[in-house]
Amino acid sequence: MIFFENVSKIYSPTSTALKGVTLRIQPKEFVSIVGPSGSGKTTLLKLLTVEERPTEGRIFFDQSEVTMLRPKELPYLRRRIGKVFQDYRLLPTKTAYENVAFALEAAGHLTKEIEHDVPQVLELVGLTEKIHHFPHELSGGELQRVAIARALVNRPEVFLADEPTGNLDPVNTREIIRLLLKINELGATVILATHDKEIIDSLDRRVVALEKGEIIRDEERGKYII
Ligand code: ADP
Ligand code: MG
Repeated sequence: MIFFENVSKIYSPTSTALKGVTLRIQPKEFVSIVGPSGSGKTTLLKLLTVEERPTEGRIFFDQSEVTMLRPKELPYLRRRIGKVFQDYRLLPTKTAYENVAFALEAAGHLTKEIEHDVPQVLELVGLTEKIHHFPHELSGGELQRVAIARALVNRPEVFLADEPTGNLDPVNTREIIRLLLKINELGATVILATHDKEIIDSLDRRVVALEKGEIIRDEERGKYII
């Protein structure tokens, strides 16, 4: 379970990103975090992966308080959490296969496991035919699918998607959302940060709405009505 307990994040006296956020997310939930640009969505995700630390409050992932973890424990936490971004963040000099394989190499997996798992996860995202393509040879939707494969290959318990469809057209957007639902069905908790109203309306899942760093709504089957 993920639990934010009265969390605030103040970057500077003129920049408060989150104010008194209390949020509980159960294993295998699919939650959308919505709100306009600047409302604190990205900060919320960064606090969970300890890319940022809260100014106030505590954050728990299962039994551990993530803000109490020592630096050398952070790679283990981050391996349990897959993450994708609006801008994909693939390595431009590596193929789709190599980008995904790199995540396993970094986690110390054996070559045999890598050769087995990488084609499998690229098949899951529908990219078998583009496996040896470089990023510049792929479309936006395909790039995001490689990024999803890379985030999935370590079998994370939690999958974070920060505006994953921000650069995509409606057809590719639907494709990526469908994949996130599949990842959720396969057993991962999914947290999707977005300001795209149409996505939220079509999902009919839990919606947590942020406004200026505060939770203004938390609905089991919400719509985005800001
Ligand atoms: P969102 O993802 O919803 O657009 P963010 O979490 O990125 O929101 O930002 C929330 C607020 O915190 C904004 O006012 C933003 O300017 C501020 N902020 C984000 N990151 C930093 C930072 N590294 N330093 C200072 N202010 C920041
Ligand atoms: Mg953001």
